[in-house]
Amino acid sequence: MKFFTACLATETNTFSPMPTSDKNFFVSRHGDYSTYPPYKDSVVALFRKLANARGWEVAESIIANAEPAGITLRKTYEAFRDEILSDLKGALPVDAVLLDLHGAMVADGYDDCEGDLIASVRQIVGADIPIGVELDLHCHITEKMVSNASIIITYKEYPHTDTADRALELFNLIADTVEGKIHPTMGTFDCRMIGLFYPTAEPMKSYVGKMKALEGKDGVLSVSLAHCFPWGDVKDLGAKTLVVTDNNPAQAAQLAESLGRELYAMRKTVYPRYQSIDAALDEALALGKSPVVLADVSDNSGGGAPSDSTFVLKRLLERKIENVAIGGFWDPIAVSVAMDAGVGAKLDVRIGGKMGPMSGDPLDLHVEVTGIAENAIQYFGSDEARMDYPLGNTAALRVNGIDIVLISLRVQVFSPELFTNVGVDPTKRKLVIVKSTQHFYGRFAPIAAEVLYISAPGAVQPDFKNIPYKFADTHKYPMVEDPMVS
Ligand SMILES: [Zn+2]
Repeated sequence: MKFFTACLATETNTFSPMPTSDKNFFVSRHGDYSTYPPYKDSVVALFRKLANARGWEVAESIIANAEPAGITLRKTYEAFRDEILSDLKGALPVDAVLLDLHGAMVADGYDDCEGDLIASVRQIVGADIPIGVELDLHCHITEKMVSNASIIITYKEYPHTDTADRALELFNLIADTVEGKIHPTMGTFDCRMIGLFYPTAEPMKSYVGKMKALEGKDGVLSVSLAHCFPWGDVKDLGAKTLVVTDNNPAQAAQLAESLGRELYAMRKTVYPRYQSIDAALDEALALGKSPVVLADVSDNSGGGAPSDSTFVLKRLLERKIENVAIGGFWDPIAVSVAMDAGVGAKLDVRIGGKMGPMSGDPLDLHVEVTGIAENAIQYFGSDEARMDYPLGNTAALRVNGIDIVLISLRVQVFSPELFTNVGVDPTKRKLVIVKSTQHFYGRFAPIAAEVLYISAPGAVQPDFKNIPYKFADTHKYPMVEDPMVS
Protein backbone atom coordinates (compact mmCIF):
# COMPACT_ATOMS: atom_id res chain seq x y z
CA MET A 1 0.00 0.00 0.00
CA LYS A 2 1.36 3.41 -0.94
CA PHE A 3 -0.01 6.85 0.06
CA PHE A 4 0.96 10.13 -1.58
CA THR A 5 0.91 13.24 0.67
CA ALA A 6 1.44 16.97 0.21
CA CYS A 7 0.62 20.30 1.85
CA LEU A 8 0.13 23.66 0.16
CA ALA A 9 -1.55 26.25 2.33
CA THR A 10 -2.09 29.94 2.75
CA GLU A 11 -5.17 31.99 3.55
CA THR A 12 -5.53 34.78 1.03
CA ASN A 13 -6.87 38.16 2.09
CA THR A 14 -7.73 39.62 -1.30
CA PHE A 15 -7.87 43.11 0.28
CA SER A 16 -4.35 42.90 1.77
CA PRO A 17 -1.74 45.26 0.30
CA MET A 18 1.03 42.61 0.42
CA PRO A 19 1.28 39.95 -2.32
CA THR A 20 2.23 36.39 -1.34
CA SER A 21 5.33 35.14 -3.15
CA ASP A 22 7.46 32.01 -2.89
CA LYS A 23 9.63 33.90 -0.37
CA ASN A 24 6.70 33.90 2.07
CA PHE A 25 6.42 30.10 2.16
CA PHE A 26 8.25 27.84 4.59
CA VAL A 27 8.99 24.78 2.46
CA SER A 28 10.13 21.24 3.18
CA ARG A 29 10.59 18.56 0.56
CA HIS A 30 10.27 14.78 0.76
CA GLY A 31 10.14 14.61 4.56
CA ASP A 32 13.29 16.64 5.25
CA TYR A 33 12.10 19.04 7.96
CA SER A 34 15.50 20.60 8.66
CA THR A 35 14.41 23.59 6.55
CA TYR A 36 11.55 24.29 9.00
CA PRO A 37 11.62 22.11 12.15
CA PRO A 38 7.99 22.82 13.25
CA TYR A 39 6.95 20.58 10.34
CA LYS A 40 7.91 17.56 12.45
CA ASP A 41 4.50 18.20 14.11
CA SER A 42 2.65 18.83 10.84
CA VAL A 43 -0.38 17.02 9.50
CA VAL A 44 1.73 15.53 6.70
CA ALA A 45 4.26 14.19 9.23
CA LEU A 46 1.35 12.63 11.12
CA PHE A 47 0.07 10.99 7.91
CA ARG A 48 3.51 9.42 7.49
CA LYS A 49 3.56 8.08 11.06
CA LEU A 50 0.06 6.61 10.71
CA ALA A 51 0.85 4.95 7.38
CA ASN A 52 4.18 3.59 8.58
CA ALA A 53 2.47 2.16 11.68
CA ARG A 54 0.41 0.02 9.31
CA GLY A 55 3.48 -0.92 7.32
CA TRP A 56 2.42 1.22 4.37
CA GLU A 57 4.73 3.26 2.17
CA VAL A 58 4.49 7.07 1.88
CA ALA A 59 5.61 9.26 -1.01
CA GLU A 60 5.78 12.73 0.52
CA SER A 61 5.94 15.76 -1.76
CA ILE A 62 6.24 19.32 -0.40
CA ILE A 63 4.95 20.98 2.74
CA ALA A 64 4.54 24.68 1.97
CA ASN A 65 2.76 27.09 4.32
CA ALA A 66 2.79 30.88 4.18
CA GLU A 67 1.56 33.39 6.75
CA PRO A 68 -1.64 34.83 5.27
CA ALA A 69 -1.28 37.92 3.09
CA GLY A 70 -2.60 39.20 -0.23
CA ILE A 71 -3.16 37.39 -3.52
CA THR A 72 -0.49 34.77 -4.31
CA LEU A 73 1.61 35.43 -7.40
CA ARG A 74 0.54 33.26 -10.32
CA LYS A 75 4.03 31.88 -10.89
CA THR A 76 4.31 31.01 -7.17
CA TYR A 77 1.09 28.97 -7.08
CA GLU A 78 1.77 27.28 -10.41
CA ALA A 79 5.31 26.31 -9.40
CA PHE A 80 4.17 24.68 -6.14
CA ARG A 81 1.22 22.98 -7.84
CA ASP A 82 3.36 21.64 -10.66
CA GLU A 83 5.98 20.38 -8.20
CA ILE A 84 3.29 18.41 -6.32
CA LEU A 85 1.90 17.01 -9.58
CA SER A 86 5.34 16.07 -10.84
CA ASP A 87 6.13 14.30 -7.53
CA LEU A 88 2.79 12.49 -7.83
CA LYS A 89 3.55 11.30 -11.36
CA GLY A 90 6.93 10.08 -10.14
CA ALA A 91 5.31 8.16 -7.28
CA LEU A 92 2.68 6.31 -9.35
CA PRO A 93 1.08 3.91 -8.82
CA VAL A 94 -0.39 5.11 -5.49
CA ASP A 95 -3.36 3.72 -3.56
CA ALA A 96 -4.53 7.02 -2.06
CA VAL A 97 -3.72 10.74 -1.90
CA LEU A 98 -3.87 12.84 1.27
CA LEU A 99 -3.70 16.61 0.94
CA ASP A 100 -3.36 19.17 3.74
CA LEU A 101 -4.70 22.41 2.21
CA HIS A 102 -6.21 25.63 3.51
CA GLY A 103 -9.30 26.17 1.36
CA ALA A 104 -9.05 29.95 0.98
CA MET A 105 -5.98 30.27 -1.24
CA VAL A 106 -6.36 32.71 -4.13
CA ALA A 107 -3.72 33.30 -6.78
CA ASP A 108 -3.62 35.68 -9.71
CA GLY A 109 -5.84 33.87 -12.24
CA TYR A 110 -7.08 31.23 -9.75
CA ASP A 111 -9.85 32.11 -7.28
CA ASP A 112 -10.04 28.46 -6.14
CA CYS A 113 -6.46 27.16 -5.91
CA GLU A 114 -7.51 24.12 -3.90
CA GLY A 115 -10.20 23.15 -6.42
CA ASP A 116 -7.65 23.51 -9.20
CA LEU A 117 -5.08 21.39 -7.35
CA ILE A 118 -7.52 18.63 -6.34
CA ALA A 119 -8.90 18.46 -9.92
CA SER A 120 -5.35 18.21 -11.29
CA VAL A 121 -4.56 15.39 -8.87
CA ARG A 122 -7.79 13.61 -9.86
CA GLN A 123 -6.79 13.82 -13.54
CA ILE A 124 -3.52 12.08 -12.80
CA VAL A 125 -4.73 9.32 -10.46
CA GLY A 126 -8.01 8.59 -12.22
CA ALA A 127 -11.52 8.09 -10.87
CA ASP A 128 -10.90 5.14 -8.55
CA ILE A 129 -8.13 6.34 -6.25
CA PRO A 130 -9.39 8.00 -3.02
CA ILE A 131 -8.34 11.61 -2.44
CA GLY A 132 -8.66 12.86 1.15
CA VAL A 133 -8.40 16.57 1.92
CA GLU A 134 -8.09 18.36 5.25
CA LEU A 135 -9.02 22.07 5.23
CA ASP A 136 -8.89 24.94 7.68
CA LEU A 137 -12.43 25.88 8.72
CA HIS A 138 -11.82 29.37 7.27
CA CYS A 139 -12.31 27.98 3.79
CA HIS A 140 -14.66 28.25 0.83
CA ILE A 141 -16.07 24.90 -0.24
CA THR A 142 -16.48 24.81 -4.02
CA GLU A 143 -18.15 22.38 -6.39
CA LYS A 144 -14.75 21.72 -7.97
CA MET A 145 -13.31 20.57 -4.64
CA VAL A 146 -16.29 18.37 -3.74
CA SER A 147 -16.62 16.72 -7.15
CA ASN A 148 -12.92 15.83 -7.32
CA ALA A 149 -12.15 14.84 -3.70
CA SER A 150 -13.40 11.64 -2.05
CA ILE A 151 -13.50 13.02 1.50
CA ILE A 152 -13.09 16.60 2.74
CA ILE A 153 -12.82 17.30 6.47
CA THR A 154 -12.44 20.77 7.97
CA TYR A 155 -11.21 21.70 11.45
CA LYS A 156 -13.97 22.11 14.02
CA GLU A 157 -12.17 24.28 16.59
CA TYR A 158 -11.01 27.89 16.53
CA PRO A 159 -8.27 28.29 17.81
CA HIS A 160 -7.40 25.37 15.53
CA THR A 161 -6.41 22.94 18.27
CA ASP A 162 -7.85 19.92 16.47
CA THR A 163 -5.77 19.75 13.28
CA ALA A 164 -4.20 16.44 14.38
CA ASP A 165 -7.56 14.95 15.44
CA ARG A 166 -9.08 15.77 12.07
CA ALA A 167 -5.99 14.42 10.26
CA LEU A 168 -6.33 11.15 12.15
CA GLU A 169 -10.01 10.89 11.18
CA LEU A 170 -9.19 11.66 7.55
CA PHE A 171 -6.41 9.09 7.47
CA ASN A 172 -8.61 6.37 9.00
CA LEU A 173 -11.52 7.08 6.65
CA ILE A 174 -9.30 7.09 3.57
CA ALA A 175 -7.63 3.88 4.78
CA ASP A 176 -11.09 2.30 5.18
CA THR A 177 -11.96 3.48 1.68
CA VAL A 178 -8.85 1.96 0.18
CA GLU A 179 -9.62 -1.32 1.94
CA GLY A 180 -13.16 -1.27 0.54
CA LYS A 181 -14.83 -1.02 3.97
CA ILE A 182 -16.65 2.24 3.15
CA HIS A 183 -17.75 4.18 0.05
CA PRO A 184 -17.74 7.87 1.01
CA THR A 185 -20.19 10.34 -0.53
CA MET A 186 -20.43 14.05 0.24
CA GLY A 187 -23.25 16.57 0.54
CA THR A 188 -23.03 20.32 1.16
CA PHE A 189 -25.41 23.14 2.04
CA ASP A 190 -24.93 26.88 1.63
CA CYS A 191 -25.85 28.54 4.95
CA ARG A 192 -26.03 31.98 3.26
CA MET A 193 -23.90 33.58 5.96
CA ILE A 194 -20.60 35.49 5.90
CA GLY A 195 -18.71 35.96 9.15
CA LEU A 196 -16.45 34.59 11.86
CA PHE A 197 -17.77 32.16 14.45
CA TYR A 198 -16.05 31.21 17.71
CA PRO A 199 -16.60 27.65 18.99
CA THR A 200 -15.10 28.75 22.33
CA ALA A 201 -18.45 30.40 23.18
CA GLU A 202 -22.10 29.36 23.08
CA PRO A 203 -24.10 28.62 21.04
CA MET A 204 -21.27 27.51 18.69
CA LYS A 205 -19.71 25.32 21.37
CA SER A 206 -22.85 23.16 21.57
CA TYR A 207 -23.23 23.18 17.78
CA VAL A 208 -19.72 21.70 17.44
CA GLY A 209 -20.62 19.15 20.12
CA LYS A 210 -23.67 18.14 18.10
CA MET A 211 -21.60 17.77 14.89
CA LYS A 212 -19.23 15.42 16.72
CA ALA A 213 -22.05 13.41 18.27
CA LEU A 214 -23.50 12.67 14.81
CA GLU A 215 -20.27 11.13 13.53
CA GLY A 216 -19.47 7.44 13.48
CA LYS A 217 -23.02 6.14 13.50
CA ASP A 218 -26.01 5.63 11.19
CA GLY A 219 -23.71 5.80 8.17
CA VAL A 220 -22.46 9.32 8.98
CA LEU A 221 -18.69 9.33 8.57
CA SER A 222 -17.85 12.99 9.11
CA VAL A 223 -19.55 16.37 9.65
CA SER A 224 -17.83 19.70 8.92
CA LEU A 225 -18.75 23.35 9.00
CA ALA A 226 -16.71 25.53 6.64
CA HIS A 227 -16.98 28.93 8.35
CA CYS A 228 -15.60 30.85 5.31
CA PHE A 229 -12.87 33.51 5.28
CA PRO A 230 -14.67 36.88 5.05
CA TRP A 231 -11.69 38.75 3.56
CA GLY A 232 -11.41 36.44 0.54
CA ASP A 233 -13.48 38.12 -2.18
CA VAL A 234 -14.34 35.06 -4.31
CA LYS A 235 -17.54 33.79 -5.87
CA ASP A 236 -17.97 30.92 -3.38
CA LEU A 237 -17.40 32.97 -0.21
CA GLY A 238 -19.72 31.89 2.60
CA ALA A 239 -20.39 29.34 5.34
CA LYS A 240 -21.26 25.82 4.21
CA THR A 241 -21.97 22.56 5.96
CA LEU A 242 -20.36 19.42 4.53
CA VAL A 243 -21.37 15.88 5.47
CA VAL A 244 -19.68 12.63 4.45
CA THR A 245 -21.81 9.48 4.54
CA ASP A 246 -21.21 5.87 3.62
CA ASN A 247 -22.57 5.36 0.12
CA ASN A 248 -25.65 7.53 0.70
CA PRO A 249 -25.51 10.89 -1.10
CA ALA A 250 -29.15 11.72 -0.28
CA GLN A 251 -28.49 11.28 3.45
CA ALA A 252 -25.35 13.48 3.16
CA ALA A 253 -27.32 16.24 1.42
CA GLN A 254 -30.23 16.06 3.87
CA LEU A 255 -28.06 16.18 7.00
CA ALA A 256 -25.95 19.00 5.54
CA GLU A 257 -29.15 20.95 4.91
CA SER A 258 -30.68 20.37 8.34
CA LEU A 259 -27.43 21.36 10.09
CA GLY A 260 -27.04 24.37 7.80
CA ARG A 261 -30.57 25.54 8.52
CA GLU A 262 -29.95 25.10 12.23
CA LEU A 263 -26.93 27.41 12.04
CA TYR A 264 -28.90 29.87 9.94
CA ALA A 265 -31.68 29.95 12.53
CA MET A 266 -29.05 30.99 15.12
CA ARG A 267 -27.52 33.67 12.90
CA LYS A 268 -28.39 36.55 15.25
CA THR A 269 -26.53 34.90 18.14
CA VAL A 270 -23.45 33.25 16.63
CA TYR A 271 -21.49 36.35 15.60
CA PRO A 272 -18.83 37.53 18.08
CA ARG A 273 -19.26 40.84 19.90
CA TYR A 274 -16.84 43.36 18.42
CA GLN A 275 -16.59 46.89 19.82
CA SER A 276 -15.00 50.16 18.76
CA ILE A 277 -11.61 50.96 20.30
CA ASP A 278 -13.03 53.39 22.86
CA ALA A 279 -16.00 51.20 23.80
CA ALA A 280 -13.72 48.20 24.35
CA LEU A 281 -11.22 50.24 26.42
CA ASP A 282 -14.09 51.72 28.48
CA GLU A 283 -15.52 48.29 29.19
CA ALA A 284 -12.10 46.83 30.03
CA LEU A 285 -11.31 49.65 32.48
CA ALA A 286 -14.75 49.49 34.09
CA LEU A 287 -14.44 45.78 34.82
CA GLY A 288 -12.19 46.47 37.80
CA LYS A 289 -10.20 43.25 37.34
CA SER A 290 -7.01 42.45 35.53
CA PRO A 291 -5.52 41.61 33.21
CA VAL A 292 -8.20 42.18 30.61
CA VAL A 293 -6.99 40.75 27.29
CA LEU A 294 -8.19 42.68 24.24
CA ALA A 295 -7.77 41.36 20.72
CA ASP A 296 -6.97 43.87 17.99
CA VAL A 297 -8.54 41.54 15.45
CA SER A 298 -8.34 43.99 12.54
CA ASP A 299 -4.53 43.84 12.46
CA ASN A 300 -4.17 40.07 12.71
CA SER A 301 -1.38 38.98 10.37
CA GLY A 302 -3.00 35.53 10.52
CA GLY A 303 -5.81 37.07 8.46
CA GLY A 304 -3.46 38.83 6.07
CA ALA A 305 -3.04 42.18 7.86
CA PRO A 306 0.39 43.82 8.14
CA SER A 307 0.47 43.65 11.98
CA ASP A 308 1.88 47.15 12.28
CA SER A 309 -1.25 49.26 12.80
CA THR A 310 -1.21 52.02 15.38
CA PHE A 311 -4.91 52.84 15.86
CA VAL A 312 -5.20 51.22 19.30
CA LEU A 313 -1.80 52.37 20.57
CA LYS A 314 -2.59 55.93 19.51
CA ARG A 315 -5.81 55.92 21.55
CA LEU A 316 -4.01 54.48 24.60
CA LEU A 317 -1.52 57.35 24.44
CA GLU A 318 -4.18 59.99 23.82
CA ARG A 319 -6.27 58.70 26.71
CA LYS A 320 -3.16 58.40 28.95
CA ILE A 321 -4.06 54.81 29.88
CA GLU A 322 -1.16 53.18 31.76
CA ASN A 323 -0.10 49.71 32.91
CA VAL A 324 -0.70 48.23 29.47
CA ALA A 325 1.21 45.64 27.39
CA ILE A 326 0.61 45.68 23.62
CA GLY A 327 2.06 43.69 20.72
CA GLY A 328 3.32 42.32 18.46
CA PHE A 329 4.12 45.13 16.10
CA TRP A 330 5.85 43.83 12.97
CA ASP A 331 8.57 46.46 12.71
CA PRO A 332 11.99 44.99 11.88
CA ILE A 333 13.51 48.45 11.48
CA ALA A 334 12.51 49.62 14.96
CA VAL A 335 13.60 46.24 16.40
CA SER A 336 17.04 46.65 14.90
CA VAL A 337 17.35 50.23 16.19
CA ALA A 338 16.34 49.07 19.69
CA MET A 339 18.76 46.12 19.62
CA ASP A 340 21.63 48.35 18.54
CA ALA A 341 20.83 50.79 21.35
CA GLY A 342 20.50 48.07 24.00
CA VAL A 343 18.48 47.69 27.20
CA GLY A 344 18.30 50.91 29.22
CA ALA A 345 18.75 53.19 26.23
CA LYS A 346 16.33 56.07 25.82
CA LEU A 347 15.71 57.12 22.27
CA ASP A 348 13.32 58.55 19.71
CA VAL A 349 11.84 55.89 17.51
CA ARG A 350 9.18 55.67 14.79
CA ILE A 351 6.82 52.73 15.38
CA GLY A 352 4.33 51.02 13.05
CA GLY A 353 2.10 52.48 10.37
CA LYS A 354 4.57 51.64 7.63
CA MET A 355 2.58 49.35 5.32
CA GLY A 356 -0.19 51.66 4.15
CA PRO A 357 -3.34 53.53 5.15
CA MET A 358 -4.85 50.44 6.81
CA SER A 359 -1.96 50.54 9.30
CA GLY A 360 -2.70 54.11 10.46
CA ASP A 361 0.02 56.74 10.93
CA PRO A 362 3.45 55.87 12.27
CA LEU A 363 3.96 57.06 15.86
CA ASP A 364 7.07 59.04 16.79
CA LEU A 365 7.77 58.28 20.43
CA HIS A 366 10.49 58.81 23.04
CA VAL A 367 10.92 55.37 24.56
CA GLU A 368 13.10 53.35 26.90
CA VAL A 369 14.33 49.98 25.66
CA THR A 370 13.42 47.57 28.49
CA GLY A 371 14.04 44.19 26.89
CA ILE A 372 15.51 42.51 23.83
CA ALA A 373 15.54 38.86 22.76
CA GLU A 374 17.21 37.28 19.75
CA ASN A 375 15.35 34.60 17.79
CA ALA A 376 12.50 34.49 20.28
CA ILE A 377 9.71 31.95 20.08
CA GLN A 378 6.08 31.65 21.15
CA TYR A 379 3.87 28.61 21.62
CA PHE A 380 0.62 27.33 20.17
CA GLY A 381 -1.62 24.56 21.44
CA SER A 382 -1.86 22.69 24.72
CA ASP A 383 1.25 21.89 26.78
CA GLU A 384 0.98 18.23 25.72
CA ALA A 385 0.86 19.07 21.99
CA ARG A 386 2.73 22.36 21.98
CA MET A 387 4.19 23.80 18.79
CA ASP A 388 6.99 26.37 18.79
CA TYR A 389 6.71 29.32 16.42
CA PRO A 390 9.52 31.78 15.73
CA LEU A 391 8.97 35.51 16.40
CA GLY A 392 12.37 36.62 15.14
CA ASN A 393 14.20 39.29 17.09
CA THR A 394 12.04 41.02 19.66
CA ALA A 395 12.23 44.29 21.58
CA ALA A 396 10.18 45.82 24.41
CA LEU A 397 9.90 49.59 24.52
CA ARG A 398 8.28 51.55 27.37
CA VAL A 399 6.51 54.86 26.99
CA ASN A 400 4.03 56.51 29.40
CA GLY A 401 3.33 53.27 31.29
CA ILE A 402 2.80 51.26 28.11
CA ASP A 403 5.03 48.31 27.18
CA ILE A 404 5.17 47.93 23.40
CA VAL A 405 6.53 44.67 22.00
CA LEU A 406 8.00 44.71 18.49
CA ILE A 407 8.89 41.64 16.41
CA SER A 408 10.98 41.16 13.29
CA LEU A 409 8.92 38.27 11.83
CA ARG A 410 5.35 38.99 10.76
CA VAL A 411 3.28 36.60 12.87
CA GLN A 412 0.11 36.83 14.92
CA VAL A 413 0.14 36.49 18.69
CA PHE A 414 -0.35 32.98 20.09
CA SER A 415 1.04 33.02 23.62
CA PRO A 416 2.13 35.23 26.56
CA GLU A 417 5.75 34.44 25.67
CA LEU A 418 5.48 37.29 23.18
CA PHE A 419 5.73 39.51 26.26
CA THR A 420 7.68 37.41 28.78
CA ASN A 421 10.54 36.82 26.31
CA VAL A 422 11.40 40.50 26.73
CA GLY A 423 10.69 40.83 30.45
CA VAL A 424 7.09 42.07 30.30
CA ASP A 425 4.78 40.15 32.67
CA PRO A 426 1.27 40.27 31.18
CA THR A 427 -0.31 38.96 34.40
CA LYS A 428 0.80 42.18 36.14
CA ARG A 429 -0.75 44.52 33.56
CA LYS A 430 -4.22 46.09 33.66
CA LEU A 431 -4.71 45.66 29.91
CA VAL A 432 -2.99 43.27 27.51
CA ILE A 433 -3.62 43.97 23.83
CA VAL A 434 -2.75 41.36 21.22
CA LYS A 435 -2.74 41.51 17.43
CA SER A 436 -4.71 38.31 16.83
CA THR A 437 -8.28 37.32 16.08
CA GLN A 438 -8.71 34.16 18.14
CA HIS A 439 -5.57 32.00 18.08
CA PHE A 440 -4.33 33.84 21.18
CA TYR A 441 -7.30 32.52 23.14
CA GLY A 442 -6.02 29.08 24.15
CA ARG A 443 -2.93 30.32 25.97
CA PHE A 444 -4.16 33.75 27.09
CA ALA A 445 -7.60 32.77 28.44
CA PRO A 446 -6.08 31.03 31.50
CA ILE A 447 -4.38 34.28 32.59
CA ALA A 448 -7.15 36.66 31.50
CA ALA A 449 -9.72 38.10 33.89
CA GLU A 450 -11.80 38.77 30.76
CA VAL A 451 -11.35 38.63 26.97
CA LEU A 452 -12.75 41.39 24.73
CA TYR A 453 -12.60 41.89 20.96
CA ILE A 454 -11.87 45.26 19.31
CA SER A 455 -12.98 46.27 15.83
CA ALA A 456 -10.37 48.91 14.97
CA PRO A 457 -9.72 50.06 11.40
CA GLY A 458 -7.43 47.66 9.50
CA ALA A 459 -6.99 45.08 6.76
CA VAL A 460 -9.18 42.47 8.51
CA GLN A 461 -11.73 44.72 10.16
CA PRO A 462 -14.70 42.52 11.13
CA ASP A 463 -17.29 44.92 9.76
CA PHE A 464 -18.78 42.31 7.41
CA LYS A 465 -21.59 44.49 6.10
CA ASN A 466 -19.15 47.06 4.77
CA ILE A 467 -16.36 44.93 3.27
CA PRO A 468 -16.15 46.18 -0.36
CA TYR A 469 -16.81 42.88 -2.16
CA LYS A 470 -16.71 42.77 -5.97
CA PHE A 471 -16.96 39.03 -6.69
CA ALA A 472 -18.67 37.43 -3.69
CA ASP A 473 -22.38 36.69 -3.70
CA THR A 474 -23.53 39.09 -0.98
CA HIS A 475 -27.14 37.95 -0.85
CA LYS A 476 -26.18 36.59 2.54
CA TYR A 477 -26.49 37.47 6.23
CA PRO A 478 -25.62 40.05 7.61
CA MET A 479 -25.86 42.03 4.34
CA VAL A 480 -29.43 40.74 4.00
CA GLU A 481 -31.57 40.09 7.09
CA ASP A 482 -33.20 36.84 5.90
CA PRO A 483 -31.53 35.77 2.64
CA MET A 484 -33.14 32.32 2.55
CA VAL A 485 -36.55 33.96 2.29
CA SER A 486 -36.04 37.20 0.36
ZN1 LIG B 1 -8.32 29.39 10.21
